[in-house]
Amino acid sequence: MSIQNILEKQREFFNSQATKSLDFRKTQLQKLKQVISANENLFYEAIHKDFGKSQFDTYTTELSIIYGEINYYLKNLKSLMKPKSVKTNLPNLPGSSKIYQDPLGCSLVIGAWNYPYQLSICPMISAIAAGNTCILKPSEVAENTMKLMVDLFNKNFDERVFHVETGGVAETTELLKLKFDKIFFTGSPQVGKIIYEAAAKNLTPVTLELGGKSPALVTENANLEIATKRIIWGKFLNAGQTCVAPDYILVDKKVATKFIEILKNQVQKNDYQPNSSHFTRIINEKHFNRLLNLIDDTKIIFGRKTDLEKLYIQPTLLYPINWNDKIMQEEIFGPILPILVYENFDEALNQIRNHEKPLSAYLFSNNSDEIEKFANQISFGGGCINDVVMHLTNENLPFGGVGNSGIGNYHGKFGFEAFTHQKSVLKRATWGEPNIKYPPYSDKKLNWIKKLM
Ligand code: NAD
Repeated sequence: MSIQNILEKQREFFNSQATKSLDFRKTQLQKLKQVISANENLFYEAIHKDFGKSQFDTYTTELSIIYGEINYYLKNLKSLMKPKSVKTNLPNLPGSSKIYQDPLGCSLVIGAWNYPYQLSICPMISAIAAGNTCILKPSEVAENTMKLMVDLFNKNFDERVFHVETGGVAETTELLKLKFDKIFFTGSPQVGKIIYEAAAKNLTPVTLELGGKSPALVTENANLEIATKRIIWGKFLNAGQTCVAPDYILVDKKVATKFIEILKNQVQKNDYQPNSSHFTRIINEKHFNRLLNLIDDTKIIFGRKTDLEKLYIQPTLLYPINWNDKIMQEEIFGPILPILVYENFDEALNQIRNHEKPLSAYLFSNNSDEIEKFANQISFGGGCINDVVMHLTNENLPFGGVGNSGIGNYHGKFGFEAFTHQKSVLKRATWGEPNIKYPPYSDKKLNWIKKLM
């Protein structure tokens, strides 16, 4: 069946109101949880084939997040769905006012390859929880995980509710010609602009989860041991192929030498060798070559071992780096960590402000003035103080970018809201209709209106 037919069927099903009841939504989410947990081994195998990711990393950074989202909705859906009563203003009395949580309709979710499960499945969970239908187009770049999602989900779900579609650029371009009620996209800012333009033709609302260069600022007031440990973990997790990984470090000149020494020691302590089963590989040869091309050999202070056959790039530290270096011209998305120094904190904030708004920013400091300035004076999607990446694991925080790093957000109730229209409904009593708003108008009526409104 063509994708157009499937979308028509989804629309018909949505219009039948079948997707809207609490029971229906919960049943879909429970089924999803059951299908994933019964097939966990297939999930581990497919992602290992795609880029050598370990079971441990797959569970902690993919499956646990998916289970967390499902559990959150199973627990909170009833209250999220409930129309919210709000106050009614004087001119509308007697009456009552409510905000209905109205599903947008037929949604399209387009995923990225670097966390192929959670970036595809979590938005789909939000779509279904919010009472929508969903067509999911995972990334073709992570081929095995894409195939697994097609096989498992299309076999287990009614296509009128949820369908997984395969395809690359050509197929996605065709898909974008169809009229959806919501498009949720995860990927690069370049492709994000293509999605936004296509959505604009139908005035379809979008959530764009994009990327960029996320800084980690290390000040003289940082705990350097903790800073290096956490930065290394977040940077080399998934071999740096993480949208919220610290892309580069900005360190205070006063502590730079000490910081770099601890950083080198820390990175050596981890098992990042070519045969390590703990270290993820680069997704493909194209990205492998792109990454090598970003390295300036004269600035390597650690790393640079590679193995094309294994698509392995050793964690590599580059220092001293400035904004003219090749590595600073694009999002790195790999295990290369450039280090820049700054002379004073305000100037460091300025460097961040003078570039595109990042998806994440991280500050390592125990100084309250620096923390306040960091949180208030620069724009970024979200971030942490004295940690990296972990903010996205708190479902009470909205996850998303700003400016070049994205539009909108999700996770927990924010995901529900991303797929929901807040529909205002005012209910009036049918008694007590004053004549005042009807013509003919008079000065006396106007005076009353001024008092009332
Ligand atoms: P990408 O933009 O190349 O691809 C994303 C999706 O768009 C894929 O499904 C792909 O098939 C499709 N696509 C690619 N080119 C297209 C085109 N011309 N027209 C229509 N569709 C097209 O991104 P990627 O390489 O999969 O992921 C890496 C990027 O995603 C990085 O910038 C990263 O920071 C970002 N990212 C962001 C988040 C987030 O949550 N904000 C998460 C992961 C990745």
